[in-house]
Amino acid sequence: MRLDYLTIFPDYLSPLRLSLPGKAIERGLLELYVHDLRQWAHDRHRTVDDTPYGGGAGMVMKPEPFGEAFAALEVATSPVAAGTTIVFTTPSGEPFTQRLAADLATRERLVFACGRYEGIDQRVIDHARTLAEVREISLGDYVLNGGEVAALAVTEAVVRLLPGFMGNAESLVEESHEDGLLEYPVYTKPASWQGYDVPPVLLSGDHGRIAAWRRQQAVERTALRRPDLLHASHASTEWPVTRATPGDAGELLTLTRACWVQEALANDTLDIPALHETLEQITTSLEAWDTYVVRSAGRLVGSVRGRLAPAADGSEETWWDIGRVCVAPDLQGRGLGRVLLDHIEAVAPAGAAAYALFTGAHSQANQRFYKRAGFRLRADLPAPPGAVMLTKPRRR
Ligand code: SAM
Repeated sequence: MRLDYLTIFPDYLSPLRLSLPGKAIERGLLELYVHDLRQWAHDRHRTVDDTPYGGGAGMVMKPEPFGEAFAALEVATSPVAAGTTIVFTTPSGEPFTQRLAADLATRERLVFACGRYEGIDQRVIDHARTLAEVREISLGDYVLNGGEVAALAVTEAVVRLLPGFMGNAESLVEESHEDGLLEYPVYTKPASWQGYDVPPVLLSGDHGRIAAWRRQQAVERTALRRPDLLHASHASTEWPVTRATPGDAGELLTLTRACWVQEALANDTLDIPALHETLEQITTSLEAWDTYVVRSAGRLVGSVRGRLAPAADGSEETWWDIGRVCVAPDLQGRGLGRVLLDHIEAVAPAGAAAYALFTGAHSQANQRFYKRAGFRLRADLPAPPGAVMLTKPRRR
């Protein structure tokens, strides 16, 4: 990934070279360039601001230095949405979220335009939209003195999601906001400190119970501190799950393709059978699999399926194979995937000793999602090319 920053205070961005981003640069994962905007201002005082048309307090950042900077740095992409995103940090932008960070982490290049004074002349943003994708991003509902702090925060949240960036990929596995919930409380050694004991369940070694406890803590904490998130993430009532019928097959075909095409584009070594299925195959699959769907305002927006199968580890057990956890692209990141997964686990027949599923070996977000739900990566078990298996013991 390449990152460019346009700022009148380049020194403000020197922390970018510290710590993990610095190491990522050394390892060649990241190229990072901080540009002094004043090099594109040509009067004696290198002026980058002027008084606002229409009057009012303060100064506005002039368009010409930004225009020249975009040209000199060759930020234009073709087609406009390909690869590059120009980020304007502004309190009137869309709120910065984990989901937005994950979106930005898929881009090849981010160009940050850091505002100062009363902000940047609107024509710079209008012009930028003709060059590349533009996101106007707010760090929160408060006013900072300049966009550099926001650019630093966005950078840190984005860069730690880049594949290979975190020394320990497991650190990303379970985090606040990953599935729309705040993180559960965490503990380390010693087990007892100043009369405070670590909750015994965490010492039990029972991964199923631990995952259930953590989930419960996350839900309670979110209800207490951020009920707005809980409403969006945990609202199984908002998304009633129903059994699929043959009449759903056409929409299932569309949903399946919409869900998997992104993953296929991101990883061209991964062959995804779901992408090649015909309407007839989907219709037939409804007999072999217990398939469930979610509709929102009449539209089919989610699906999941399960079926009993012999255990993949060669034991005598029967497992509940889970597949096609699909959420319409415009609703992803709002907890619907979790509603579907919880549902398919809940309807597993009594004979199932464990849950099993495949996901892309490079689909870090998917793996995080399943691990957070209590699944564990099973490198010891066979998987189709480009995929990995995850399993979770059934709680009785
Ligand atoms: N007059 C502007 C307004 O009310 O929207 C505020 C300008 S602020 C003093 C100067 C610059 O700081 C902005 O152009 C923006 O780049 C940055 N900034 C301030 N608050 C921000 C926030 N909450 N998120 C992102 N950037 C912010």
